[in-house]
Amino acid sequence: MGKGDIVIKYLLKFLFPPKCIFCKKLLPTNTEIEVCTECYDKITFYSGELLYTGDYIKIAWIDKVICLCEYSGIIKDAVIRYKFFNKPGYYRTFAKLLSKKVKKMTNSLFFDIIISVPLHSDREKERGYNQSYLISRLVGKEIGIPEASGILERTRNTPKQSLLGKEQRGLNIKGAFKVNNADKVKGKKILIIDDILTTGSTLSECGRVLTEAGAKSVTAAVIASGKKHLGKVY
Ligand SMILES: [Zn+2]
Repeated sequence: MGKGDIVIKYLLKFLFPPKCIFCKKLLPTNTEIEVCTECYDKITFYSGELLYTGDYIKIAWIDKVICLCEYSGIIKDAVIRYKFFNKPGYYRTFAKLLSKKVKKMTNSLFFDIIISVPLHSDREKERGYNQSYLISRLVGKEIGIPEASGILERTRNTPKQSLLGKEQRGLNIKGAFKVNNADKVKGKKILIIDDILTTGSTLSECGRVLTEAGAKSVTAAVIASGKKHLGKVY
């Protein structure tokens, strides 16, 4: 970053001081993560211990899932605003919290690349951004792993998973993804980012396609999940 960029960054922070994404309270200009202490304390974080119940959930084709927190309360409200009410700037808070968690739970240098669950281009156009990609880009930067989301593509626009039951979700998503460049996947240890873990059918399908293209391992990291128990959910 050049001197000019640093000046601009500080000016922007004074003009647009950081705000807690949950309660909009103004925060000091040197704030690293845009969440106030009161809201932080309201989040139900899953334990930081490796393999502790709640942090790892078994999903077919996915080695393990790192989950930041429970999908409830202020997190649930903020994720809904982030996805459906045009609040792309929230990615900074989610990505920084998730990066800390990934660093704490794994040797982040273990991963070769980081990617996000792709949206179909029609859905991305409608929303204006891919919420998981914004997060994976910053998580990649924070933990020092190259972002390579382009290797996985969504070929089919599927009905919204949230409107379907568990079995339909699995069928709905089957065959919806393809690997663009198998050379970039072969032998790689991949970290894949998604926002919410529900049944795990989307991540599982991404894991299947990546594994069949030769990925060495596929680990998932998500912001939140309603699943609290270790066990097979998909
Ligand atoms: Zn707050």
